[in-house]
Amino acid sequence: MISRKKLIAGNWKMNKTSADALTLVADLVASVGRQTDVDVVVCPPFTSIETVGKAIEGSMLKLGAQNMHPEASGAYTGEVSAPMLRALFATHVILGHSERRALFGETDAFVNKKVLTALKNQLKPILCVGESLGERELGLTLKIVQTQLEAGLDGVSKDLASSVVIAYEPVWAIGTGKVATTEQAQEVHAFIRSLLTKLFTEPVAQKVRILYGGSMKPANAPELLAQKDIDGGLIGGAALEARSFVELVTAAAAAK
Ligand code: PEP
Repeated sequence: MISRKKLIAGNWKMNKTSADALTLVADLVASVGRQTDVDVVVCPPFTSIETVGKAIEGSMLKLGAQNMHPEASGAYTGEVSAPMLRALFATHVILGHSERRALFGETDAFVNKKVLTALKNQLKPILCVGESLGERELGLTLKIVQTQLEAGLDGVSKDLASSVVIAYEPVWAIGTGKVATTEQAQEVHAFIRSLLTKLFTEPVAQKVRILYGGSMKPANAPELLAQKDIDGGLIGGAALEARSFVELVTAAAAAK
């Protein structure tokens, strides 16, 4: 069985001026900038991408964006493209976050266009999927995750599939302090891996990292990260302070 390197990604959302971002990332570089056991990605707002990118130069930290438009350029006021992110040395991009889906009307089809564009531009998509509380209560969790995953990955070739990172983020656990139980999370992660086997192949499915996201904190991370199919975390609130984020990286390094 392939052992997958854990990945911890910080989604800073709409927080931090560039000066604040620089302070945070400088702390991260000093604390975990040299460790090689875990892949660590920081995803600042667009306004801080260049500053953060320069601050992590020469360290092991990687740079991600929180969103991107599928077109390369043009009349899309307020948007940012894959080539623009690549020019700043971003390597990852979060796509289909539930906040983008719920607040900005992003559909599976639109998210899929972005996934394909990201891959074409050598950006690794962190594709977010997850059910709302209502959907979970109706027993629709796996169906929702399947629909979002299949639509989001439509047209992705087998060769590129292992560059995709999946983030399972139950919407009811994001920013609420309610974390999925390890059993709930592992069940969905295993289901996602079985879908990846069907969509691609078993070896590809074994390579893809599947992150958990939703109120992951140093206190609950070790148990979640010990699950067979949980390969890391997409972290919101706990990524905004160096101490908690560093503890999460340490927990991922310790997880077997
Ligand atoms: C997120 O927004 O991706 C997230 C997981 O947020 P939080 O950790 O704050 O729940």
